[in-house]
Amino acid sequence: MSVRVRFAPSPTGYLHIGGARTAIYNYLYAKANKGTFVLRIEDTDTERSKREYEESQIKDLKWLGLTYDEGPDNPGEYGPYRQSERTEIYQKYANQLIDENKAFHCFCTDEQLDAKREEAIAQERSPHYDGTCRNISKEDALKRIESGEKATIRFKVPMKSYSLVDEVRGKVEFPEDMVGDFVIMRSNGLPVYNYCCVVDDWLMKITHVIRAEDHLPNTLRQLMIYEAFDATPPIFAHASLLVGHDRQKLSKRHGATSVNAYTADSYLPEALANYLCLLGWSHPDEENIFKLSDIENIFTSKRFSKAAALYDIEKLKWCNAQHLRSLDTKTLIKRSAEFIDKDSPYHEMNDEWKARFVELYKEKIDLFSQFNEKVSEVFGDEIEKTQELLEILSWETTGQIRTYLNEQIDSLISNSNEFATEEDIGNWINHVKKEMKIKGKPLFMGVRSNLTGKDHGPDLKVLATLTPLKTIKSRIEKIAGL
Ligand code: GLU
Repeated sequence: MSVRVRFAPSPTGYLHIGGARTAIYNYLYAKANKGTFVLRIEDTDTERSKREYEESQIKDLKWLGLTYDEGPDNPGEYGPYRQSERTEIYQKYANQLIDENKAFHCFCTDEQLDAKREEAIAQERSPHYDGTCRNISKEDALKRIESGEKATIRFKVPMKSYSLVDEVRGKVEFPEDMVGDFVIMRSNGLPVYNYCCVVDDWLMKITHVIRAEDHLPNTLRQLMIYEAFDATPPIFAHASLLVGHDRQKLSKRHGATSVNAYTADSYLPEALANYLCLLGWSHPDEENIFKLSDIENIFTSKRFSKAAALYDIEKLKWCNAQHLRSLDTKTLIKRSAEFIDKDSPYHEMNDEWKARFVELYKEKIDLFSQFNEKVSEVFGDEIEKTQELLEILSWETTGQIRTYLNEQIDSLISNSNEFATEEDIGNWINHVKKEMKIKGKPLFMGVRSNLTGKDHGPDLKVLATLTPLKTIKSRIEKIAGL
């Protein structure tokens, strides 16, 4: 039997990183087993579901590289792939359950149910549905509906215990009497999650359900429905929860939780996918940096971990930096361009300049957006008067070096040069050393501080040749006027 897995988001918001992780696991499981990855949109909450969210989630899935084999925009033979388009199917199977005496129409109003629940709690009884409508015959129920009464459809919960062997959690037991007869179809004709999810997984021939641990309690109701349809349940794997530093379930309090916030922040999709994959799963060779394509043949549910996984944005940044540094120069230039401010002087430079710039700074940034600070470092002429800089500027030798460099720069500018070359910088340093007899720290700090207006920074020969001579000249003038 070929593997069929699904990702079943509700389009009631943007794609959450927890959802993205679930999608990654399902995608990889399908790949590893040469199976099929299905996208099903669970949009039965008509008030909160929006097409805009569905589109945004699909966009983010594709951004992460999680292509699916079947879905609303790519239907296979088990469609439709949006639950809102499957209402008749849910109705049909709910009627079948009624005919088989496994479900019943319930006419209790919300007010009545609330009152009964409160009373049960006050009397320390279980607040389960009390069975008021359980034995109304189908004929009587249909008559009442015809005469205009509203009814939900409730599932008749069998009095027995259930258990499952979860791929991650092992044996999970659900003792008898955990739940009462529950609603599967609302009075407005729309299905309830635990019911329609099973109808779909069953009809779509889903073989494995991989999702987060917070869905484990739902599995009980779902097992009951599989049983009622005489269907074999899929294999379940409930991956560990994602938690923040306070060990609480990840939420907005812990920072950005939607994938699109990371897209906007210039994270690399392969880095986000890599990091999310490691939250609850581990590589057999303990590797931390990989692309999904590197592991799609070795991904197994055996390496899921039971313990909650800490979502740590610093680790994600580190992971992003590793991926960023492994990109070749051309790719770095191409992929970073959209994250460098539109009006930045960077965009006016030629490819050779850009190549030297990205290579100089790639080890010093975690995210493409941080290239912006580096552009300012190259083009800015403001002098930040730090203690260290003022100390260097107070040395007599630094002033002597400045006079010399100023002459050299003037001469290059008057010969229509826009930039110095690495050879120029090398010659200047040699001159200061040999002719002016300045060595060591006074030499290197003196040259650096005059050219860059800073007491530290990246490779001076590259940095000083990326900066327009006019900018260097302006820095020198500002330093002289301090
Ligand atoms: N629509 C559900 C959710 O977004 C799907 C849960 C499941 O995978 O069964 O949480």
